[in-house]
Order: sequence, then structure tokens, then C-alpha cells
Amino acid sequence: MADYVIGESTKTADIPLPADGFSAAQLFSTGEGLTYNDFIILPGYIDFVADDVELVSPLTRKIMLKVPLVSSPMDTVTESDMAIAMALSGGIGIIHHNCSPEYQASEVHKVKKYKHGFIRDPVVFSPNHTVRDVLNVKAEHGFCGVPITENGKIGGKLVGIVTSRDIDFLEESANQQNVKLETVMTKLENLITAKSGVTLQEANSILEKSKKGKLPIVNEKGELVSLMARTDLKKNRSYPNASKDENKQLLVGAAIGTKNTDKERLQLLAAAGVDVVVLDSSQGNSIFQIEMIKYIKYEYPQLQVIAGNVVTTAQAKNLIEAGADGLRVGMGSGSICITQEVMAVGRPQATAVYKVAEYARMFGVPVIADGGIQSVGHIIKALSLGASTVMMGSLLAGTSEAPGEYFFSDGVRLKKYRGMGSLEAMNRKDAKGSAMDRYFHNEMDKMKVAQGVSGSIVDKGSILKFLPYLQCGIKHGCQDIGARSVSVLKSLMYSGELKFERRSHSAQLEGNVHSLFSYEKRLY
Ligand code: GDP
Ligand code: 5GP
Repeated sequence: MADYVIGESTKTADIPLPADGFSAAQLFSTGEGLTYNDFIILPGYIDFVADDVELVSPLTRKIMLKVPLVSSPMDTVTESDMAIAMALSGGIGIIHHNCSPEYQASEVHKVKKYKHGFIRDPVVFSPNHTVRDVLNVKAEHGFCGVPITENGKIGGKLVGIVTSRDIDFLEESANQQNVKLETVMTKLENLITAKSGVTLQEANSILEKSKKGKLPIVNEKGELVSLMARTDLKKNRSYPNASKDENKQLLVGAAIGTKNTDKERLQLLAAAGVDVVVLDSSQGNSIFQIEMIKYIKYEYPQLQVIAGNVVTTAQAKNLIEAGADGLRVGMGSGSICITQEVMAVGRPQATAVYKVAEYARMFGVPVIADGGIQSVGHIIKALSLGASTVMMGSLLAGTSEAPGEYFFSDGVRLKKYRGMGSLEAMNRKDAKGSAMDRYFHNEMDKMKVAQGVSGSIVDKGSILKFLPYLQCGIKHGCQDIGARSVSVLKSLMYSGELKFERRSHSAQLEGNVHSLFSYEKRLY
């Protein structure tokens, strides 16, 4: 045993440090494909607090994100609500295309026009609606502040508002419930409104002074543009990391296919203000995609294009050469995906991310690790292998911002989550075949081969709470590794300083909860 002398330290520099752990290059040199669970990252040296870790990372050549998280273009994951929440939290959402081009463009438009604190699409009635209609809204949604416009729609001329105070005494009898809103509403002449363009602070002070609960926002023609609720202003949160363009509008992406009809879709998306398009294909290395990249870079030079999916350097080469601004990496690793089983092609995700990222970085093309992310740990592993951002489906599905209604099964609150290559998604009526394109099917095919399944996911609450948990988890992971930022993490990996180790099956079991009779799995 060594003698410890208080006040004296041991000079370790005299003895060279023995080799310990493997560099990423060594880890992936065996020819065997690895998944995230197959390896572990060895800890480094901490001389900073987790809060100081910088998560800024590029999505594409030109778009930087403050938080490297992306929601997948799947019809049970990303529409405008998810994309808004992702962008507010510093990431980005990619709106799926398993819908009509008009619907997809309007979802993009909602994100671009989103103003924090403003209700963009409030329930609106006409003077001919009745008290019963308002009571139904109250029963269904829990609020009863309803602006009244001439045509009963947003964009119509504002003529009044109905709030709980106007109908409090009319709830009792059926006769009173038939009363038309024109007789109970607070009329325009007595209304406090604000002009569109009003800032959050200005609206706040108008509501404070007027002591009203609702503030309708109108344009110069007196038409209703949006609504503000006092309750929202009181609990107003700020989002300092929000992903925004130079006009201070939230960033949003949209997925498209590579057919000629997708060029028309793209036209609508571009008009709606989309910032980045994702060419959505399970196997991106095709003549169709190469031509589409060239077409977009020529016709819409301001648009960033993410190509893919790819898992090999040869696939990546063609798409980079065609002009891709980012690459989406993953084939067969998604939670709902059966591609590797059915088609016998794909690649374990950790190897795919490492190989493609190592190649693409030579051309300044960032890589998105897409699919197979089950936990914060997997996000940290993907970033440590060279991915610039991480795309998630299942991890974000089941949140309140994911499309679809909650339902109960055996007392558990669930939402649907399905693969875009599942028969259910490919047969969606209003889809115009978009999900099929991803898997090279068309409507004339007599038989479709499913490459995904459909299932359900447990309610996870709001993204606005879940993403801060993921973000905080990534920062703590980087701290344990000794990386002050995502870019330092990558340079440590490429310099060989970051050490990895393979995990045997029993090591994986040991690394998870074990030996307990029961435990509570609450993460945040
Ligand atoms: P009310 O006074 O009964 O209308 O309800 P509160 O103003 O106390 O709360 C309304 C909550 O519902 C706020 O958080 C709103 O942002 C939210 N909300 C969502 N959609 C709408 C809508 O279409 N109209 C109204 N009035 N509120 C909405
Ligand atoms: P997850 O995060 O759920 O593990 O994976 C989501 C990813 O799986 C998506 O971003 C997409 O790349 C991929 N994906 C989505 N639907 C399907 C499908 O039906 N089949 C296959 N093979 N992959 C899918």
C-alpha cells in the first residue's frame, strides 16, 4: 500500500498513463455494426457547471439551432403545434407531408405567423349563435371568452365579445340558453381592442389598465386577427432560446417527396415561408432525389435542403455532390420500423451516424441522427459520434403537442404513434400517397409492403416541459464527459481524446435498473 503524506501530492506525470478505452475510430474499426446500447462513453474531467454547457449546433450549412433537437416529419408527431413548441424551445419541427399540399402549407404558415401569447385560432361565433353554443364550448374546452364577428370566423369584422360575465345568469333554463349572442354580448363600442402589431408588453399593459380578461386584436379594417387572454399573460414564459429567422419568426421545416407533384407542393410551402425542406425517403441515394436537390437549389436558392436517409458514405457522397445542406442518417433503427427485418437492408444506427458524419464533415455538411433515440443518453451518444442534431419520433409522440387525440386503454392515457411506412399511414385518405413515396410505392401498386407498424405511446404531458428535461440531461452528460459544448464534444471525439468502450450483454443489464422488486420510473 502507498504511504499517504498529508500536504504532499503524488507526481503522476513521472509515469506514462496506460492506454484506457478506445477512440471512436478504434471502436468502429471492427467491421461490426453497433447500436447506441452497444457502447458507453468514458467520463472525462469536470471544471465547469452543467448550466454553462453550450448546446448550439448546426442543422444545415446555414441554420444554427440553440438546442440540437428536431421532431420527425411523421403524421403522429409533427404538425404546427409540435413545430411551434420545438422552435420555442430552441429546436425545430419538420411538418409531415402525409396530407394535402394545402394543409401542409397552412401548418407551415401557422408556425411562421405564430406570436407568443396570442391565440391564433380562437373559437369565434357570429351574433346568431346562442348561449347554448358558448356553454358547449365551455364544457368542451373549459373557457367561454368568445369573440363575435359578423361571419362567425376569424378574419371577420369584430362586432363584440361574450365572456363568462355575460352568460353567468343564463345557464339555468333551456329557454335562456336559446338566447342569441347579439343580445348578451358586450358590443364593439364598449370593447377594448388592440391593433395587430401590438407587442406582448403593450398588450400586457392594456389588459392591466382595462382590467379585462380578453383582448381582441384587430387589423386596420376592424377584422379579428387574434385574441389575448389575461390568464396567459400572467403565466407568460419567455423562450430565450427560440429558433427564429431574421424577421423574428419561428423556424420551421417541411418534408416533401421527390415526384413531380412535390414541386407544386414545394411552391406552396415556400410561399408559406418554410425555412428548410427535408427530402423524405427511407433510401435517399436515388436519381429522383439527386434531381430534386438540384432543382430546389436552382429554383429556391434561399431554401436549405436536408437529403436522405442515408447510412453509408457512398450514399452520402451522391447527395452532398448534388448540393445537400444537411443529411438525415438512419435506416431501420426507428422504434416503429421493420425495414431491416422485411427488406434486409439498413445499418445499426451508431455505426451509421459515425461513418456518415465523419465523411460529411469534410464538406461542412451537418448530420442529423434520425431514429432509435430512446433516452437522453442516446442523444448524447449520437452527438458524441459526430451528429450535429438528433431527430426523434417516439420520444416526442404522446405529448400534448403531437397530432391526435388521447384515448384510454386499461386505464392508461395514450396517443397513437405509427410508422410512415405502416399500412395505416400509407392508406390515409387525405394523404395523396405521400407516405407511400417514402417507400417507393405508388397508388397503382397492387400490393404494399409495410415497413412500419402502428401502435400507441403513453401520455408524456407537454413538450414545453419535456424538452427542458432533455436539454438539461444533455448538458449534464456533456459535463460528465468534460465537454463544455457540443462542438467541443465533437472535437474531443475526432482528436481521439474521447474514449469509448464496448458493452457486453451483461454490462448492458448492469447499466440498467436491476435487483429491485419494483421502482418508480419518473424522469423529471
Ligand atoms: P375564460 O375567461 O373562460 O375564457 O377562460 P380564461 O381566459 O381563464 O382561460 C382561457 C384559456 O384557454 C387561456 O389559457 C387561453 O389561451 C386558452 N384558449 C385556447 N384556445 C382558446 C380560444 O379559442 N378562446 C379562448 N378564450 N381561450 C382559449
Ligand atoms: P423513432 O424516433 O421513433 O425511433 O424513429 C423515428 C424515425 O423512424 C423517423 O424519423 C423516420 O426516419 C423513421 N420512420 C418513420 N416511420 C417509419 C416506418 O414506417 N418505417 C421505417 N423503416 N422507418 C420509419
